[in-house]
Parts: sequence; C-alpha cells; structure tokens
Amino acid sequence: MNDRADVVVIGGGIVGAACAYYLSAAGVAVRVLERDFPASGTSRACDGLILLSDKSSAAELAVARASADLWGKLASALGMDFEYARRGTLVLAETDAGLTAARATAATMQAAGVRAEVVDNAGLRALEPALAPDLVGGVLYGDEAQVDARLATVALLAAAKRQGAQLQSNAEVTAIRRGADGRVAGVVTHTGEIAAGAVVCAAGVWSNQVAGLVGLELPVRPRKGHILVTSRVPGLIGHPLLEGSYAASVHTAAEGVQVALVAEMTAGGTLLLGSSREFAGFDRSVSLPIMQAIAVRAVRFLPGLARASIMRSYAGLRPWSPDHLPLVGPVDGVSGFYLATGHEGAGIGLAPITGRIIADWIVSGRAPALAHRLRPGRFGVQTATG
Ligand SMILES: Cc1cc2nc3c(=O)[nH]c(=O)nc-3n(C[C@H](O)[C@H](O)[C@H](O)COP(=O)(O)OP(=O)(O)OC[C@H]3O[C@@H](n4cnc5c(N)ncnc54)[C@H](O)[C@@H]3O)c2cc1C
Repeated sequence: MNDRADVVVIGGGIVGAACAYYLSAAGVAVRVLERDFPASGTSRACDGLILLSDKSSAAELAVARASADLWGKLASALGMDFEYARRGTLVLAETDAGLTAARATAATMQAAGVRAEVVDNAGLRALEPALAPDLVGGVLYGDEAQVDARLATVALLAAAKRQGAQLQSNAEVTAIRRGADGRVAGVVTHTGEIAAGAVVCAAGVWSNQVAGLVGLELPVRPRKGHILVTSRVPGLIGHPLLEGSYAASVHTAAEGVQVALVAEMTAGGTLLLGSSREFAGFDRSVSLPIMQAIAVRAVRFLPGLARASIMRSYAGLRPWSPDHLPLVGPVDGVSGFYLATGHEGAGIGLAPITGRIIADWIVSGRAPALAHRLRPGRFGVQTATG
C-alpha cells in the first residue's frame, strides 16, 4: 500500500464528518472515504433537530446534552453558517391526559437540569398563534436547537479539511486489510489501497455491510422515515413542533408504520413535515399513503397548512439500534476497528459527541467517560478472529 493515513473514516455522512473534524483537530491524519458524495445517505433525508426531550434514559440524556453543548460551540467554530438556531421546541398535547403525561416528562427533565416550561392553551396560543385552537397545552424545551443537516455535514467536512483531513468521494470501501496479528492495516477501494492504523465505520445503515468485511454482525437495522416539504410559509411557526406521541414512536420497536407530527421551519421559509417510522428494509421509495398520513397530522395541528402545497418529499433510513443508544468505540477481537453507528433518529443531534468520543478514544487509547454505555460489546459485537 503506497497511500497512507493514520485513520480512515468510512462514510461521509454527519457522523463520519464529525469523526473527521475531531480527529483532525487532534492532529490525526484522517482520510474520509465516501462511496457517493458527502451527505448522500440519511444525512440529507432527515430533519435537523437537536433534541433532549425524547431521551428516555439517563445515559441517553447525558450523551445528548454533551452533544447539544458541542453543537453550540461548533456554530461559531466551524466558520460556516449551517442554520444553527436554538429557539427551543414545543411538545404539543391534544388532551388533558396528554398534558398530564407531558407534564410528568417535563418534571423528569427539569430534575435532570433540562429547561422545560409547561404551558396551557393560552400560553401555547401566545407562543404559536397558528396552532389549532383546541390544543390543551404543551411543554417548551428551551435548550433544544436545529441545524440544516446537509449544511452541517458540509461545514464539518470543510473544517476538517482545513485541519488537514482528506476527503475522497466515489470511494467505496470494498475490503479491509488486516495484518498477521489480526490488527486493521488499511482498506481497499476500487481506486486503490490506503494503509491506516485505525478504521472507523461510520456508514450509517450500511454499517453492517462494512462490519461484515471484518467478520462482524451488527444489530443495526434501517428504520425508514418520510418527510414532506411544503411551499413557502415563512413565519407560520416560530419553534419546531412535536406532537406528544412523538417520543413514544421513537422508542417503540414496532415493525409497522408509526406517524407522529414533527414540524420544522427552514431558513428558506419552507416547512419540513414529518415523520414516519417503519422497518421496511433498505427501500427508500416514497409512499403516498404515508405522505397523506403525515399531511393529515400536520393540518390537524396547523389548520392553515390546508392552503399550502407539498413541493417535494423524501424518505431516509435511520440506523436503528435495539437499546436506542448508538454503537460507538472499538470492537473486541478486531484491533484498530471502531464503530460509530446506530444513531436512529438522533444522529444529527449526537454526531458531535460521537466524533469527540471516537477521536479521544483513538488518541488516548482509553475509553472517554461518556463512552461506557455506548460500547459495541454490550451487544456481544466481537469476533474471535482477531
Ligand atoms: C425522516 C428522518 C428524520 C430525522 N430527523 C432527525 C432529527 O431531527 N434529528 C436527528 O438528530 N436525527 C434525525 N434523523 C436521523 C439522522 O438523519 C441519522 O441518524 C443520521 O443522518 C445518520 O448519519 P450517519 O452519518 O450515521 O449516516 P449517513 O448519513 O447515512 O452516512 C453514511 C454514509 O456512508 C456511506 N457509505 C456506506 N457504505 C460505504 C462504503 N462501503 N464505503 C464508503 N462509504 C460508504 C454512505 O454513502 C453514506 O453517505 C432523521 C432521520 C430520518 C430518516
């Protein structure tokens, strides 16, 4: 192998971009290999919310808060506008029972130090006059933010390149080389081989195929989601909106279609309306009945949308993991091989902390404090061949 990097990152989505950013910031010579082009996978077919309120365990919340803090820093550090806005999000309650449940979640979040303000019908109307008048109330999570996920990926990669990282598009990794001791020695693409002391698999829902190159089987499955993009409705809402059942749809492992409203205003004045969840293999085609179901929920909460048009729609594949935490870190038995995958519907929010953990782990050789609950070994991900 005549081409060399300290670390090869496989995948130019937001997670691979964040790994490249923090590795290059630490002085590591990193090469990102992307099969298509940056953000060509799920990181261009999603929303861009940085959420805390949908996290159901202390471990998930701790990781999400650390990552949200990093996003705040990156907004000024990356030197490129990626539409970071920290306006808070509103979780909506349709019924008294819904508001009681939302209040209980808010109390749990407050106890953990997250800002959560419960509002009644009048408070909700004051915050968002376009909402349906019959909604009972909601919770404003003031620390939550949003980004444009594609721009954020590009901004991370551009900053990584300024720090010395190299990015290769149209470079699909087809094999991983290992030395006589079993340690990772490099990767093979159709344009040649690159020697490397470590390889990070950040291939999103395709991570299983990449991990298969070193004999691993991951519990990561594609969980499809749809988004509708409306005609321009600037100013219709001031905060991203989530219906109360959103968190439950995130956490259920049900195979069938789940639809819960998520509405997010873009800087261009269009509204992103989501979202659905279903296990449908690797199919990324758009389904009309699911689009209709999302539109029905959207008009129920924002009646004025009945006069808007849908300009386009898309479907993406969330890299689902069974315990709703990503798989981040080295793998027992394949020295030098790291996973950074399995973020399901939180990969935008969790990308910075993932990149930070991977960089700290590779540079120091030790597990960073927040990393223990994310270790791939908790699913028995290991191979005896190392
Ligand atoms: C509808 C929807 C809404 C969402 N909303 C949010 C949200 O509001 N907030 C949030 O935090 N998250 C959200 N998500 C989740 C988020 O989009 C994902 O978790 C995140 O994009 C995953 O990023 P990634 O880099 O791991 O994967 P990807 O973006 O898919 O990147 C993986 C890359 O690896 C490349 N690749 C694969 N195999 C190879 C190979 N062999 N060689 C080289 N390259 C390879 C692919 O081409 C791809 O570009 C949403 C997802 C969906 C579908």
